[in-house]
Amino acid sequence: MEHARVKEILNRNKSGGNVVIKGWLKTARHSKGFSFLEVSDGSCFSGIQVVAGEGLDNYDTEIKKLLTGCAVSVSGELVDSPGQGQKYEIKAEKIAVVGLVDSDYPLQKKRHTYEFLRTIAHLRPRTNSFGAVFRVRNAASKAVHHFFQERGFVYLHSPIITASDCEGAGEMFKVTTLDLKAPPRDEAGKIDYKQDFFGREAHLTVSGQLEAEIAAMALSNVYTFGPTFRAENSNTSRHLAEFWMIEPEMAFCDIRGDMDLAESFLKYVLQSVLNDCPDDMQFFNDRIDNTVLATMESIIKTPFERITYTEAVDILLKSGKTFEYPVTWGCDLQSEHERYLTEDHIKRPVIVTDYPKTIKAFYMYLNDDDKTVRAMDVLVPKVGEIIGGSQREDRKDILLKRIGELNLNEKDYWWYIDLRRYGSVPHAGFGLGFERIVQFMTGMGNIRDVIPFPRVPGYAEF
Ligand code: ATP
Ligand code: MN
Repeated sequence: MEHARVKEILNRNKSGGNVVIKGWLKTARHSKGFSFLEVSDGSCFSGIQVVAGEGLDNYDTEIKKLLTGCAVSVSGELVDSPGQGQKYEIKAEKIAVVGLVDSDYPLQKKRHTYEFLRTIAHLRPRTNSFGAVFRVRNAASKAVHHFFQERGFVYLHSPIITASDCEGAGEMFKVTTLDLKAPPRDEAGKIDYKQDFFGREAHLTVSGQLEAEIAAMALSNVYTFGPTFRAENSNTSRHLAEFWMIEPEMAFCDIRGDMDLAESFLKYVLQSVLNDCPDDMQFFNDRIDNTVLATMESIIKTPFERITYTEAVDILLKSGKTFEYPVTWGCDLQSEHERYLTEDHIKRPVIVTDYPKTIKAFYMYLNDDDKTVRAMDVLVPKVGEIIGGSQREDRKDILLKRIGELNLNEKDYWWYIDLRRYGSVPHAGFGLGFERIVQFMTGMGNIRDVIPFPRVPGYAEF
């Protein structure tokens, strides 16, 4: 008989019949003549209770000795459970021990710190918390694709290795096959990247946006969803060196369309996760952060506020609060400012638009005031900025002027400028760090605990 998943069994509307399940023991309690085994296969938050009696032929030799962490295959009858907190249990007719555990299995019943669990990233998926995180991550990924696919966006695979340093979004990791001990040198004594694998300097991508813009100029609406890399030495609870980014880009779209998309996107992903993972979400609400469910529900229900950067600065100046970083028009909004706006003042998500050009990237559409650009940041309670986007500068002369003002090299952007010469159209998009949204939904304090294998300064084990 083919084995069933625990989730499917627990969702059945009645007991009865024989089932086979395979999984790992969350707990094993042995009493006289009986054993109670909680078996989890990761398909849902709960395991299923298996009751094994001494009548089983391997009871004394094997079952009685089973420990937390053992892998088993169980067949038996699905019956209503007399116990509290579970609908069904399995009355075992046969239990095959598939894999034993050594006695030093680190995941015993006591609670472990997340710091400790990071050191056993090969085992932490078996804990309640990490099982739930990875299922939520999965549900959110599915929702990302569904959202865009339902709207006719084309999934673009932007490159991971790039030779363009176009955006300057962050410090980049070099990709090279040169001998680091004795790299070839040019006449000036500089490392000669002409002899490197790609014939030039190459890096891991920090963003797929510019490639998404290329694709949008042909396919209209596209999105990327892939790994990005930042070699920034920021040891914070919100930064990873490798993280996943979602970047939609839309042709024939302005900043308003961009904001509308960002708002529906966030709501859609949150709603899908609530629908797909109710038990996992309940766990996060009970054990990690008792506001996550209410916050998600309120974000789904309420329209986002929209204010300009200038209005935001006014609000902050009038707040009477002393911030660590004082506010003046022209300053970049810090996390404390963003959180004051969304948590204290507006009390719901807010989209801030039209930032000073001096604090935003060269490719953002310049407003008529020549001071602000059509940038938009979505701020949400607890996290602050969760999405950053903009309408892009589609006018060649103004783009060239901006590149000049910022002392960038036009030659590096030749293909980006070309797009403004061959059928340029208004277009807009945004970027969202996938782990930030998973962190937001789960309430997990550290971003290292919402990605299976975190890469951060000084650490890349597993
Ligand atoms: P931050 O100010 O938080 O460092 P950023 O301004 O550098 O963010 P962008 O360059 O706009 O971020 O990147 C787009 C999105 O990617 C951000 O809104 C954020 O969600 C996410 N992000 C950026 N850097 C990281 C990182 N190191 N780890 C995880 N997510 C990140
Ligand atoms: Mn950054």
